[in-house]
Amino acid sequence: MAGTGVFQEIVDGDVFQYYADGEWKKSSSGKSVSIINPATRKIQYKVQACTQAEVNKVFETAKAAQKLWAKVPLWKRAEALHKAAALLKEHKGPIAECLVKEVAKPAKDSVSEVVRSGDLISYTAEGGVRILSEGKFLVSDSFPGNDRNKLCLASKIPLGVVLAIPPFNYPVNLAVSKIAAALIAGNAVVLKPPTQGAVAGLHMIQCFHLAGFPKGLLSCVTGKGSEIGDFLTMHPGVNCISFTGGDTGIAISKKAGMVPLQMELGGKDACIVLEDADLDLAAANIVKGGFSYSGQRCTAVKVVLAMESIADDLVAKVNAKVDKLTVGSPEEDCDITAVVSESSANFIEGLARDAKEKGATFCQEYKREGNLIWPLLVDHVRPDMRLAWEEPFGPVLPVIRISSVEEGIHHCNANNFALQGCIFTRDINKAIMISDAMETGTVQINSAPARGPDHFPFQGLRDSGIGSQGITNSINMMTKVKSTVINLPSASYTMG
Ligand code: NAP
Repeated sequence: MAGTGVFQEIVDGDVFQYYADGEWKKSSSGKSVSIINPATRKIQYKVQACTQAEVNKVFETAKAAQKLWAKVPLWKRAEALHKAAALLKEHKGPIAECLVKEVAKPAKDSVSEVVRSGDLISYTAEGGVRILSEGKFLVSDSFPGNDRNKLCLASKIPLGVVLAIPPFNYPVNLAVSKIAAALIAGNAVVLKPPTQGAVAGLHMIQCFHLAGFPKGLLSCVTGKGSEIGDFLTMHPGVNCISFTGGDTGIAISKKAGMVPLQMELGGKDACIVLEDADLDLAAANIVKGGFSYSGQRCTAVKVVLAMESIADDLVAKVNAKVDKLTVGSPEEDCDITAVVSESSANFIEGLARDAKEKGATFCQEYKREGNLIWPLLVDHVRPDMRLAWEEPFGPVLPVIRISSVEEGIHHCNANNFALQGCIFTRDINKAIMISDAMETGTVQINSAPARGPDHFPFQGLRDSGIGSQGITNSINMMTKVKSTVINLPSASYTMG
């Protein structure tokens, strides 16, 4: 059960504590924030509502701890991260249970998220040792007019304190992707977990605590983003923001000061299916890509663009697979589970209804109980419907029938979102040419969009984000270059 065993100390009564200065603490606010189980719609957990004074203190201790951490040998930083990774994997059971209860993630996927997160921490530690062990040595006489009398030694140094804000859908994985990269590079981290997913995040933090990181280096403050978010993101103690979420990220980008930003935002990943595609392969990927975790993935297939000539066959194959999806509770590992909140379910329903009213075809009967929405394929969607452009973040998938490849590419490039996309065709040359024409962060050929493996570059364009992730990119992003120039009195000795 959550909050038992090694996690006993993280809870006080029925409220989970926040983590600061190497200790679990109760907020002086005397207030808590409730976490609603999406499936039961009842209060599952409570976390502390941290105050601004507590946030100030956390940044103060982070700043001091970071200065010492930056001097800890790289191999020792890696050693501590490997330890945290092992602890996380060892305690995958209770952490996965929190994910099931807080964000209604199916049980097996919840365990996979924790295990994958342990692997990601270890890979980042290993990668970091190599990336950060190398610098650059430059000589001056390659630039016109210079003699060889200046030698430059350039290496990577940490930024300082990284503010990490992950979203509800991967509250452990998308937290460690930020924390591990920041720590191996010598930074301190202040984590603000999503409210739904906060308790899984606090369990994950306890694994870092047990791994023995210095006091104050890693902290976790809880509270509603709408209440403490601005105070955190505009705090003078922040030296870098790594955020994953929706449009909130666009607002943060406008408010943040002169600090590096890593913004991973929403997506409307298109799946273009050409006449020569393997339709069974395309249908399997559309269902997996569109409906895994009930469509609540940034890289979910969010619109199918099917060539008119194969659209009937493709839709029939997709429908046959949709009919086999199991719908129900995350504990029973159903394919489709309740979406994260009632407001999210209402939003998804609004998009589906708008499409229906404007003439789209529901391939299944629309059904909803509480936050549980049955999987729905919506055919004959047209560009005047909201579902053509907006991100449902739920199990509702539109199909737009296109008469040319150009029409499909145009639709992708006209969207403000540009995270990923995919193409199904047997013609690799055509696939590469379409990929070149799609103005999006990543294009997958003959597979659904996906993040990972976690060391692959991952990035969104336009409203889908700023900066690139993947282990190497994140480490580079959380460091800056420092140069030392050795000035010699003359270019060289004269021999002879
Ligand atoms: P969200 O509503 O934007 O929330 C994301 C995080 O921001 C949460 O921790 C939230 O805390 C916090 N927050 C809310 N208001 C804030 C503020 N004013 N200042 C600072 N932080 C604030 O997104 P979500 O619903 O959790 O996640 C779904 C979205 O994330 C989708 O759009 C999805 O596509 C996107 N996503 C993108 C990627 C990617 O890599 N590109 C990956 C996963 C998800 P509270 O929970 O307390 O409100």
